[in-house]
Amino acid sequence: MDKSAKVYVAGHRGLVGSAIVRKLQSEGYQNLITRTSGELDLTDSAATAQFFDSEKPEYVFLAAAKVGGILANSLQGADFICENILIQSNVITNSHRTDVKKLLFLGSSCIYPRMAPQPIREDCLLDGKLEETNKPYAVAKIAGITMCQAYNQQYGTRYISVMPTNLYGPNDNFDLNSSHVLPALIRKMHDARIMYKPEVSVWGTGTPKREFLHVDDLAAACLFLMQNYEDSEIINIGTGDDISIKDLAEMVKEVIGYQGRLVFDASKPDGTPRKLLDVSKINSIGWKATIDLQTGIEQTYKWFLQTHYRK
Ligand code: GDP
Repeated sequence: MDKSAKVYVAGHRGLVGSAIVRKLQSEGYQNLITRTSGELDLTDSAATAQFFDSEKPEYVFLAAAKVGGILANSLQGADFICENILIQSNVITNSHRTDVKKLLFLGSSCIYPRMAPQPIREDCLLDGKLEETNKPYAVAKIAGITMCQAYNQQYGTRYISVMPTNLYGPNDNFDLNSSHVLPALIRKMHDARIMYKPEVSVWGTGTPKREFLHVDDLAAACLFLMQNYEDSEIINIGTGDDISIKDLAEMVKEVIGYQGRLVFDASKPDGTPRKLLDVSKINSIGWKATIDLQTGIEQTYKWFLQTHYRK
Protein backbone atom coordinates (compact mmCIF):
# COMPACT_ATOMS: atom_id res chain seq x y z
CA MET A 1 0.00 0.00 0.00
CA ASP A 2 1.92 3.06 -1.17
CA LYS A 3 1.27 6.57 0.09
CA SER A 4 -0.76 7.58 -2.96
CA ALA A 5 -3.02 4.49 -2.84
CA LYS A 6 -6.75 5.13 -2.75
CA VAL A 7 -7.82 3.98 0.70
CA TYR A 8 -11.45 3.83 1.85
CA VAL A 9 -11.99 3.93 5.61
CA ALA A 10 -15.59 2.83 6.22
CA GLY A 11 -16.89 4.21 9.51
CA HIS A 12 -14.41 7.09 9.74
CA ARG A 13 -16.35 8.99 12.38
CA GLY A 14 -16.40 6.13 14.85
CA LEU A 15 -13.87 5.25 17.53
CA VAL A 16 -11.89 2.87 15.31
CA GLY A 17 -12.34 4.49 11.90
CA SER A 18 -11.34 7.94 13.14
CA ALA A 19 -8.17 6.53 14.71
CA ILE A 20 -7.29 4.73 11.46
CA VAL A 21 -7.76 7.99 9.53
CA ARG A 22 -5.51 9.87 12.01
CA LYS A 23 -2.86 7.19 11.69
CA LEU A 24 -2.98 7.08 7.87
CA GLN A 25 -2.81 10.88 7.68
CA SER A 26 0.12 11.04 10.08
CA GLU A 27 1.94 8.45 7.94
CA GLY A 28 1.42 10.57 4.80
CA TYR A 29 -1.41 8.73 3.03
CA GLN A 30 -3.00 11.43 0.91
CA ASN A 31 -5.71 9.67 -1.00
CA LEU A 32 -8.24 8.75 1.68
CA ILE A 33 -11.92 8.28 0.88
CA THR A 34 -14.53 8.69 3.59
CA ARG A 35 -18.31 9.04 3.69
CA THR A 36 -20.52 9.84 6.65
CA SER A 37 -23.50 7.55 7.19
CA GLY A 38 -25.69 10.45 6.00
CA GLU A 39 -23.79 10.56 2.70
CA LEU A 40 -23.65 6.81 2.21
CA ASP A 41 -25.86 4.31 3.99
CA LEU A 42 -23.82 1.09 3.93
CA THR A 43 -26.92 -0.99 4.72
CA ASP A 44 -28.22 0.11 1.28
CA SER A 45 -26.78 -2.28 -1.28
CA ALA A 46 -27.55 -0.14 -4.35
CA ALA A 47 -25.99 2.98 -2.81
CA THR A 48 -22.93 0.99 -1.71
CA ALA A 49 -22.52 -0.51 -5.19
CA GLN A 50 -22.74 2.93 -6.77
CA PHE A 51 -20.13 4.30 -4.36
CA PHE A 52 -17.64 1.50 -5.15
CA ASP A 53 -18.24 1.93 -8.91
CA SER A 54 -17.56 5.64 -8.83
CA GLU A 55 -14.70 5.73 -6.29
CA LYS A 56 -12.93 2.42 -7.02
CA PRO A 57 -10.96 2.22 -3.77
CA GLU A 58 -7.80 0.08 -3.82
CA TYR A 59 -7.71 -0.69 -0.09
CA VAL A 60 -10.56 -0.89 2.40
CA PHE A 61 -10.55 -0.67 6.20
CA LEU A 62 -14.01 -1.97 7.17
CA ALA A 63 -14.55 -0.22 10.51
CA ALA A 64 -18.22 0.63 9.97
CA ALA A 65 -20.43 -1.33 12.34
CA LYS A 66 -23.22 -0.99 14.85
CA VAL A 67 -21.47 -1.37 18.19
CA GLY A 68 -22.44 -0.86 21.80
CA GLY A 69 -21.96 -1.89 25.40
CA ILE A 70 -23.54 -4.69 27.34
CA LEU A 71 -26.94 -2.99 27.82
CA ALA A 72 -27.43 -1.85 24.21
CA ASN A 73 -26.40 -5.30 22.98
CA SER A 74 -28.85 -7.10 25.21
CA LEU A 75 -31.76 -4.76 24.36
CA GLN A 76 -31.32 -4.30 20.58
CA GLY A 77 -30.14 -7.69 19.37
CA ALA A 78 -32.18 -7.53 16.16
CA ASP A 79 -30.58 -4.25 15.10
CA PHE A 80 -27.09 -5.48 15.98
CA ILE A 81 -27.29 -8.64 13.87
CA CYS A 82 -29.18 -7.12 10.97
CA GLU A 83 -27.26 -3.86 10.48
CA ASN A 84 -23.87 -5.50 10.82
CA ILE A 85 -24.66 -8.27 8.38
CA LEU A 86 -25.95 -5.76 5.83
CA ILE A 87 -22.98 -3.37 6.18
CA GLN A 88 -20.29 -6.02 5.95
CA SER A 89 -21.99 -7.96 3.13
CA ASN A 90 -22.41 -4.82 1.05
CA VAL A 91 -18.81 -3.70 1.57
CA ILE A 92 -17.26 -7.15 1.04
CA THR A 93 -19.28 -8.09 -2.05
CA ASN A 94 -18.63 -4.73 -3.66
CA SER A 95 -14.94 -4.85 -2.78
CA HIS A 96 -14.77 -8.13 -4.63
CA ARG A 97 -16.84 -6.90 -7.57
CA THR A 98 -14.64 -3.81 -8.06
CA ASP A 99 -11.30 -5.61 -7.47
CA VAL A 100 -10.21 -4.02 -4.20
CA LYS A 101 -6.59 -5.13 -3.62
CA LYS A 102 -6.87 -5.73 0.11
CA LEU A 103 -9.50 -5.36 2.80
CA LEU A 104 -9.19 -5.37 6.58
CA PHE A 105 -12.26 -6.46 8.55
CA LEU A 106 -12.72 -5.61 12.21
CA GLY A 107 -13.84 -8.53 14.37
CA SER A 108 -13.88 -8.29 18.17
CA SER A 109 -12.68 -10.18 21.22
CA CYS A 110 -16.29 -10.42 22.46
CA ILE A 111 -17.17 -12.90 19.72
CA TYR A 112 -14.99 -15.66 21.15
CA PRO A 113 -16.81 -18.35 23.17
CA ARG A 114 -17.87 -17.19 26.62
CA MET A 115 -15.77 -19.78 28.42
CA ALA A 116 -12.76 -19.70 26.11
CA PRO A 117 -9.51 -20.62 27.91
CA GLN A 118 -7.57 -17.47 28.87
CA PRO A 119 -5.60 -15.86 27.36
CA ILE A 120 -7.76 -16.45 24.28
CA ARG A 121 -5.98 -17.87 21.26
CA GLU A 122 -7.16 -17.26 17.74
CA ASP A 123 -8.06 -20.93 17.21
CA CYS A 124 -10.78 -20.72 19.91
CA LEU A 125 -13.20 -18.99 17.57
CA LEU A 126 -16.33 -21.15 17.10
CA ASP A 127 -15.09 -23.62 19.70
CA GLY A 128 -17.86 -23.12 22.26
CA LYS A 129 -21.07 -21.33 23.25
CA LEU A 130 -21.22 -17.55 22.86
CA GLU A 131 -21.89 -14.98 25.58
CA GLU A 132 -25.69 -14.48 25.59
CA THR A 133 -25.61 -10.69 26.13
CA ASN A 134 -24.04 -10.01 22.72
CA LYS A 135 -24.79 -13.14 20.72
CA PRO A 136 -26.52 -11.36 17.78
CA TYR A 137 -23.52 -9.03 17.36
CA ALA A 138 -21.10 -11.95 17.64
CA VAL A 139 -22.92 -14.06 15.05
CA ALA A 140 -22.86 -11.11 12.62
CA LYS A 141 -19.13 -10.57 13.13
CA ILE A 142 -18.37 -14.28 12.80
CA ALA A 143 -20.30 -14.21 9.52
CA GLY A 144 -18.09 -11.31 8.36
CA ILE A 145 -14.89 -13.17 9.20
CA THR A 146 -16.14 -16.35 7.53
CA MET A 147 -17.16 -14.34 4.50
CA CYS A 148 -13.64 -12.88 4.17
CA GLN A 149 -12.13 -16.36 4.47
CA ALA A 150 -14.56 -17.86 1.96
CA TYR A 151 -13.87 -15.10 -0.57
CA ASN A 152 -10.13 -15.65 -0.16
CA GLN A 153 -10.57 -19.36 -0.72
CA GLN A 154 -13.01 -19.18 -3.61
CA TYR A 155 -11.78 -16.07 -5.40
CA GLY A 156 -8.19 -15.59 -4.23
CA THR A 157 -8.90 -12.22 -2.60
CA ARG A 158 -6.77 -10.76 0.21
CA TYR A 159 -9.25 -10.01 2.99
CA ILE A 160 -7.82 -10.12 6.51
CA SER A 161 -9.74 -10.11 9.79
CA VAL A 162 -8.42 -8.69 13.04
CA MET A 163 -9.69 -9.28 16.57
CA PRO A 164 -9.25 -6.22 18.77
CA THR A 165 -9.78 -6.46 22.49
CA ASN A 166 -11.92 -3.86 24.37
CA LEU A 167 -11.07 -0.45 22.95
CA TYR A 168 -11.20 3.09 24.29
CA GLY A 169 -9.97 6.55 23.35
CA PRO A 170 -11.01 9.74 21.52
CA ASN A 171 -14.40 9.63 19.72
CA ASP A 172 -15.66 6.91 22.03
CA ASN A 173 -19.35 6.86 22.90
CA PHE A 174 -19.96 8.48 26.30
CA ASP A 175 -23.74 7.91 26.37
CA LEU A 176 -24.48 5.87 29.47
CA ASN A 177 -27.21 3.76 27.86
CA SER A 178 -25.08 2.48 25.02
CA SER A 179 -21.44 2.98 26.00
CA HIS A 180 -18.81 0.49 27.07
CA VAL A 181 -17.48 0.48 30.61
CA LEU A 182 -14.48 2.82 30.34
CA PRO A 183 -16.22 5.85 28.81
CA ALA A 184 -19.19 5.17 31.12
CA LEU A 185 -16.97 5.32 34.20
CA ILE A 186 -15.30 8.52 32.96
CA ARG A 187 -18.66 10.20 32.38
CA LYS A 188 -20.21 9.00 35.65
CA MET A 189 -17.27 9.99 37.83
CA HIS A 190 -16.76 13.32 36.12
CA ASP A 191 -20.45 14.20 36.52
CA ALA A 192 -20.42 13.01 40.14
CA ARG A 193 -17.33 15.09 40.88
CA ILE A 194 -18.73 18.33 39.50
CA MET A 195 -22.14 17.72 41.08
CA TYR A 196 -20.70 16.64 44.44
CA LYS A 197 -22.48 13.27 44.36
CA PRO A 198 -21.41 11.04 47.26
CA GLU A 199 -21.43 7.81 45.26
CA VAL A 200 -21.17 6.36 41.78
CA SER A 201 -22.81 3.14 40.65
CA VAL A 202 -20.59 0.60 38.91
CA TRP A 203 -22.53 -2.14 37.13
CA GLY A 204 -22.14 -5.77 38.08
CA THR A 205 -19.96 -7.20 40.82
CA GLY A 206 -16.69 -5.55 39.76
CA THR A 207 -15.01 -8.95 39.50
CA PRO A 208 -15.08 -9.47 35.71
CA LYS A 209 -11.75 -8.80 34.07
CA ARG A 210 -11.20 -6.99 30.80
CA GLU A 211 -8.24 -5.99 28.66
CA PHE A 212 -8.21 -2.40 27.35
CA LEU A 213 -6.39 -1.21 24.24
CA HIS A 214 -6.05 2.44 23.28
CA VAL A 215 -7.57 2.95 19.84
CA ASP A 216 -4.40 4.69 18.56
CA ASP A 217 -2.54 1.44 19.28
CA LEU A 218 -5.24 -0.45 17.39
CA ALA A 219 -4.94 1.89 14.40
CA ALA A 220 -1.17 1.40 14.34
CA ALA A 221 -1.70 -2.37 14.44
CA CYS A 222 -4.26 -2.25 11.61
CA LEU A 223 -1.87 -0.34 9.36
CA PHE A 224 0.95 -2.70 10.31
CA LEU A 225 -1.22 -5.72 9.42
CA MET A 226 -2.46 -4.18 6.19
CA GLN A 227 1.20 -3.94 5.19
CA ASN A 228 2.57 -7.14 6.70
CA TYR A 229 -0.16 -9.77 7.15
CA GLU A 230 -1.61 -11.91 4.37
CA ASP A 231 -3.20 -14.86 6.16
CA SER A 232 -6.91 -15.71 6.13
CA GLU A 233 -6.67 -16.71 9.79
CA ILE A 234 -7.83 -14.09 12.29
CA ILE A 235 -5.23 -12.27 14.38
CA ASN A 236 -5.66 -10.86 17.91
CA ILE A 237 -4.77 -7.26 18.78
CA GLY A 238 -4.40 -6.45 22.46
CA THR A 239 -2.01 -5.47 25.21
CA GLY A 240 -1.66 -8.89 26.82
CA ASP A 241 -2.75 -7.50 30.24
CA ASP A 242 -6.15 -7.36 31.90
CA ILE A 243 -7.65 -5.63 34.93
CA SER A 244 -10.77 -6.20 37.07
CA ILE A 245 -13.67 -3.75 36.62
CA LYS A 246 -13.19 -2.80 40.28
CA ASP A 247 -9.53 -1.88 39.78
CA LEU A 248 -10.39 -0.09 36.56
CA ALA A 249 -13.02 1.96 38.41
CA GLU A 250 -10.41 2.86 41.07
CA MET A 251 -7.97 3.94 38.36
CA VAL A 252 -10.57 6.14 36.63
CA LYS A 253 -11.53 7.57 40.02
CA GLU A 254 -7.93 8.58 40.66
CA VAL A 255 -7.42 10.13 37.21
CA ILE A 256 -10.60 12.19 37.59
CA GLY A 257 -9.95 13.10 41.21
CA TYR A 258 -13.36 11.90 42.36
CA GLN A 259 -13.55 11.57 46.14
CA GLY A 260 -16.85 9.69 46.60
CA ARG A 261 -17.67 6.01 47.02
CA LEU A 262 -18.02 3.31 44.37
CA VAL A 263 -21.16 1.18 44.77
CA PHE A 264 -21.40 -2.08 42.85
CA ASP A 265 -24.86 -2.78 41.40
CA ALA A 266 -25.12 -6.55 41.13
CA SER A 267 -28.56 -6.27 39.52
CA LYS A 268 -26.74 -5.26 36.31
CA PRO A 269 -25.09 -7.99 34.21
CA ASP A 270 -21.42 -8.89 34.58
CA GLY A 271 -21.17 -10.34 31.09
CA THR A 272 -18.36 -12.72 30.34
CA PRO A 273 -16.14 -13.35 33.42
CA ARG A 274 -12.81 -12.70 31.71
CA LYS A 275 -11.63 -11.61 28.31
CA LEU A 276 -7.90 -11.49 27.73
CA LEU A 277 -6.38 -12.09 24.33
CA ASP A 278 -3.31 -14.15 23.59
CA VAL A 279 -1.26 -11.66 21.57
CA SER A 280 1.76 -13.86 20.91
CA LYS A 281 0.95 -14.13 17.20
CA ILE A 282 0.97 -10.38 16.48
CA ASN A 283 3.94 -9.85 18.84
CA SER A 284 5.89 -12.52 16.98
CA ILE A 285 5.46 -10.77 13.65
CA GLY A 286 6.73 -7.51 15.11
CA TRP A 287 3.94 -5.43 16.66
CA LYS A 288 3.35 -4.52 20.33
CA ALA A 289 0.98 -2.09 22.09
CA THR A 290 2.70 1.02 23.44
CA ILE A 291 0.12 3.09 25.37
CA ASP A 292 -0.25 2.07 29.02
CA LEU A 293 -3.73 2.16 30.56
CA GLN A 294 -3.16 4.99 33.05
CA THR A 295 -1.73 7.29 30.33
CA GLY A 296 -4.52 6.30 27.94
CA ILE A 297 -7.24 7.09 30.49
CA GLU A 298 -5.64 10.48 31.26
CA GLN A 299 -5.51 11.33 27.56
CA THR A 300 -9.09 10.15 26.95
CA TYR A 301 -10.36 12.16 29.93
CA LYS A 302 -8.65 15.25 28.51
CA TRP A 303 -10.34 14.63 25.16
CA PHE A 304 -13.70 14.15 26.89
CA LEU A 305 -13.34 17.49 28.73
CA GLN A 306 -12.34 19.32 25.56
CA THR A 307 -15.15 17.96 23.43
CA HIS A 308 -18.01 17.69 25.91
CA TYR A 309 -17.38 20.70 28.14
CA ARG A 310 -15.77 23.30 25.86
CA LYS A 311 -17.80 26.49 25.99
P1 GDP B 1 -18.42 -6.20 27.57
O1 GDP B 1 -16.92 -6.17 27.66
O2 GDP B 1 -18.94 -6.67 26.26
O3 GDP B 1 -19.03 -6.96 28.73
O4 GDP B 1 -18.99 -4.70 27.63
P2 GDP B 1 -18.95 -3.47 28.65
O5 GDP B 1 -17.74 -2.64 28.42
O6 GDP B 1 -20.27 -2.78 28.46
O7 GDP B 1 -18.91 -4.05 30.12
C1 GDP B 1 -17.77 -4.58 30.71
C2 GDP B 1 -18.00 -4.82 32.19
O8 GDP B 1 -18.06 -3.56 32.85
C3 GDP B 1 -19.30 -5.55 32.54
O9 GDP B 1 -19.01 -6.44 33.61
C4 GDP B 1 -20.20 -4.43 33.03
O10 GDP B 1 -21.22 -4.85 33.91
C5 GDP B 1 -19.18 -3.54 33.74
N1 GDP B 1 -19.61 -2.15 33.98
C6 GDP B 1 -19.51 -1.50 35.15
N2 GDP B 1 -20.06 -0.28 35.08
C7 GDP B 1 -20.48 -0.13 33.79
C8 GDP B 1 -21.13 0.94 33.10
O11 GDP B 1 -21.44 2.00 33.65
N3 GDP B 1 -21.38 0.74 31.77
C9 GDP B 1 -21.05 -0.42 31.14
N4 GDP B 1 -21.30 -0.54 29.82
N5 GDP B 1 -20.46 -1.46 31.78
C10 GDP B 1 -20.19 -1.32 33.09
